[in-house]
Amino acid sequence: MKQEQSQNNSTPLKRRLTHKVKKIVKKLRKVVPSLNPPIHQMFEVQKNDPYRVLVCGILSARSKDEKTVPVCRKLFEKYPTAEDLLKAPIEELEETLKGIGLYRQKAKYLKRAAEILFKEFNGKIPSTVEDLTKLPGVGRKIANIILIHAFDQDTIAVDTHVHRISNLLRLVKTKTPEETERELKKIVPRPLWKEINYLLVGFGQTICNPQKPKCEICPIKEFCQEYQTKEKE
Ligand code: SF4
Repeated sequence: MKQEQSQNNSTPLKRRLTHKVKKIVKKLRKVVPSLNPPIHQMFEVQKNDPYRVLVCGILSARSKDEKTVPVCRKLFEKYPTAEDLLKAPIEELEETLKGIGLYRQKAKYLKRAAEILFKEFNGKIPSTVEDLTKLPGVGRKIANIILIHAFDQDTIAVDTHVHRISNLLRLVKTKTPEETERELKKIVPRPLWKEINYLLVGFGQTICNPQKPKCEICPIKEFCQEYQTKEKE
């Protein structure tokens, strides 16, 4: 009902953008999964488990999935639960995280997050953006990722890929990921919210690499202003 109302209230421009989003999603669904992007390994290690999704989120800051995933695996072998993390000596935790950028700071974040979980949330991972962002190392993007993958909630997680590609495709015209999240939520049909992050991240990791995009095999080049402009030159 809500969705019907918002569609009835939408402007012709929003309707056009929604139509465009649907076409892009349809095309990316056919291509992205078969390219086996690194985000697949992240899903595999997270197992939709709230503790794992939280830890992977904190460790993934400014680190590529390819580097983050092996460290996450090592960490879950040693500390399978939040309680294990709480008891872990900081030096041991730092040693486990070596190999990932900012590992000392991330070790501190994990320790402090475990302390807050037991002090304020009964040892459970919270399920709102407001509570999740009380944990160190958890911003809005990670909070949304946790809501999607651990709690199956409808939301849009905007990382650098989602922000960059949404602007590149002229779905939005925004300066910050927060703005992008807000604008995407106006034009992406709610049933697609959870999937948008996966499709655009997987696409950014495999085809639309910011430094070296593989435009020749891009399945959505017809929607890319940059490509169309280059073609005309
Ligand atoms: S055409 Fe190139 S730059 Fe445009 S979306 Fe596709 S890969 Fe990215």
